[in-house]
Amino acid sequence: MKQKPKILVVGSGIIGASIALSCLNLGADVVVLEQNKLGGVASSNSFGWINASFAESSAYFELRNAAVGAFRNLKTEINLNDSVIWQGTLWWEDSGQELEKQFNNLIGRGYVAKLLNKSEIKSLEPNLKDIPQAAIFTPLEGAAEADRVALTMLSNLTDGGWQSY
Ligand SMILES: Cc1cc2nc3c(=O)[nH]c(=O)nc-3n(C[C@H](O)[C@H](O)[C@H](O)COP(=O)(O)OP(=O)(O)OC[C@H]3O[C@@H](n4cnc5c(N)ncnc54)[C@H](O)[C@@H]3O)c2cc1C
Repeated sequence: MKQKPKILVVGSGIIGASIALSCLNLGADVVVLEQNKLGGVASSNSFGWINASFAESSAYFELRNAAVGAFRNLKTEINLNDSVIWQGTLWWEDSGQELEKQFNNLIGRGYVAKLLNKSEIKSLEPNLKDIPQAAIFTPLEGAAEADRVALTMLSNLTDGGWQSY
């Protein structure tokens, strides 16, 4: 009988946890090692903004956009509960001239984005104190509590599938 591949993943943040889950789904025996806290260090401090808004090159944009799509599909694999929300993003500048350039950049790449005026921003975010004159709304973006997502992924491993030291 063919033996299952054995995979050792070092680090239990969102990257290690995703690798572990993918290897597990491919039929491997997976063990995750963690020297700090389960769920990761950067992952537990992350803003968790899921977006492809700011990408210097087209290739980087395509990669990030594909990652947003993969994040959206994750709910078919694991139960994310409220650790990921898809509320969209409002982005504006307090000073600077980049807003229109950034908007055209996004639209040019086929990204879903709307330029909102002050009253539209107010109706979207009525509790915002200093409402800007204009903002970019990217409705398909989300936010994740990355360490919680990682922990959910790790919960798919069997007992002994992760070790903290
Ligand atoms: C303040 C902040 C805000 C951010 N905001 C965003 C954002 O809005 N959107 C976004 O996409 N990204 C954001 N990032 C980046 C994102 O959080 C990281 O890219 C991501 O969390 C990295 O995940 P990771 O699993 O590689 O790292 P980590 O979560 O740090 O996990 C790595 C783990 O490996 C362990 N480890 C390392 N060496 C060993 C070893 N030798 N043995 C055992 N364990 C080991 C560490 O203890 C750690 O727990 C942000 C990051 C920070 C810090």
